[in-house]
Amino acid sequence: MFSESPTPGEQDRQGDLSFSALERRTFAIISHPDAGKTTLTEGLLHAAGAVHEAGEVKARGDRRRARSDWMKIEQQRGISVTSSVMTFQRGAILFNLLDTPGHQDFSEDTYRTLTAVDCAIMVIDAAKGIEPQTRKLFEVCRIRNVPIVTFVNKVDREGKSPFELLDEIAEVLQLDVSPQNWPTGIGGLFHGLYDLRRAQFLIADRRDGVVPGKWIDAGSIDDPAIGKAIPGDAAASLAEEGGLALASYPEFDREAFRAGDLTPVVFGSALRGFGIEQLLDILATDGPPPQPQPARPAPVSPDEPRLTGFVFKVQANMDPNHRDRVAFVRVCSGKLTRGMKVQNSRGGKALALHNPITFFARDRELAHGAVAGDIVGIPNHGTLRVGDTLTEKGDVTFTGLPDFAPEILRRVRLGDPLKVKQMRRGLADLAEEGVIRLFKPVIGSAWIVGVIGELQLDVLQTRLEQEYGAKLEFEPSPYEVARWVRSDDPAELKRLTETLRSNMAEDQDGVPVLLMRNAWEHGRFQQDWPAITFSAVRERS
Ligand code: GDP
Repeated sequence: MFSESPTPGEQDRQGDLSFSALERRTFAIISHPDAGKTTLTEGLLHAAGAVHEAGEVKARGDRRRARSDWMKIEQQRGISVTSSVMTFQRGAILFNLLDTPGHQDFSEDTYRTLTAVDCAIMVIDAAKGIEPQTRKLFEVCRIRNVPIVTFVNKVDREGKSPFELLDEIAEVLQLDVSPQNWPTGIGGLFHGLYDLRRAQFLIADRRDGVVPGKWIDAGSIDDPAIGKAIPGDAAASLAEEGGLALASYPEFDREAFRAGDLTPVVFGSALRGFGIEQLLDILATDGPPPQPQPARPAPVSPDEPRLTGFVFKVQANMDPNHRDRVAFVRVCSGKLTRGMKVQNSRGGKALALHNPITFFARDRELAHGAVAGDIVGIPNHGTLRVGDTLTEKGDVTFTGLPDFAPEILRRVRLGDPLKVKQMRRGLADLAEEGVIRLFKPVIGSAWIVGVIGELQLDVLQTRLEQEYGAKLEFEPSPYEVARWVRSDDPAELKRLTETLRSNMAEDQDGVPVLLMRNAWEHGRFQQDWPAITFSAVRERS
């Protein structure tokens, strides 16, 4: 299924003995659909020389889909259920870009991927500002203080003013914003970008579409050299507005950025090739290297010599007949080599890593070695689950891989009543695997499943039928919101569960969950029960 013939990427890597010594930057791109994530991904790969033509990433993806036997749903819908990893090298840095699936394949995997990165690029459409999905993903980053670089995309098109956008980011996300470049204007007024870090101006050549022209040295934003290269009024507005911006927004502060308190902002156009090099520069010079990861009995430092890693995503049904799975592992310390033996902390079973996969650009290859910050795919037959810790030796368990409260709830109904046992086992298995949340109401016998994105319901139906022979149907659920409930005061928690008995349920691990009809009811209960914490996130223990 995976190519073993050397690709150009692999040859480079085999030839480069210092490959494992390259510094890592492991990051994701978060955005709302259509903000330009795919275009930016291509731009980044292109800028790093990993693909040669813009559009190549998509074309290769299409070819691969056509020849592999991915899940049927994928083929029917022509989309990818899977989130992939793209690795590329630029200078002394190896970038691992983790894809966060959006559109219809938005799912819990999208959220969990963000627990495996050290940094994220947030793409915002200059005309739309912060959109709902961006905000949700940002909140997930905030749980772990993941540092964010903001890319304001599509400055070649009409949009909001740079000031308005910066103020919106600062206000909505409660972050300090620090512009790293400044456009002469947006849309028709866009004649180029002044780059603060380089003290250079990049001319937008508008003669034949908008394309990057020459870089000119400019010691300051009002340098007369800029006025000679672009129309006078554009240079004047750059000097005036850019000057004001630089005076009023905070300067870049690496510590505040790495703590998740400040976001450097780059204006640009993924489609036209503006601002992309600068994003890579910021990640390379100021982006965090692999960070220590929360674990029991103590956090694991990336410098520890023993191999450790955790599974943040399991991709199933690469071949439904063989129950094949690929577990995506983030390496947290040590060195992973092909054939090595590791232990799964859950259950203590040993596991040999015969065919670990790495991802170069968009190709998959057998891995020769991986170090802290790298992502490796481990093919298995269902032994590895989301949240599992793999370790070479010693006792360690990574913590903090959260479960997220579902955004879609459905009551399940079985087509064939004789298959109740199979259905229950299937639902329990898939809940444990992290594919769905499963809620068993305290009153009544109809189970409720919860997911983050619609497509997960299709995945659930398909897998239950294929793997457990149970045909499942969904009914609307009377509830729209589910929250884990806990309290420091056991008597109060008991009073809640008794008073709101008909709303109470248990998740797959027996943890109490309150099911609510809508956001309004959620708000009211929160007000009425101040001693109870209503949580949208649950850490796997
Ligand atoms: P995604 O859904 O976030 O992956 O967004 P895409 O990368 O598919 O982009 C959505 C649309 O916006 C496509 O039609 C792109 O060509 C367009 N687009 C992306 N970046 C830019 C840009 O910088 N300028 C303009 N004018 N269009 C862009």
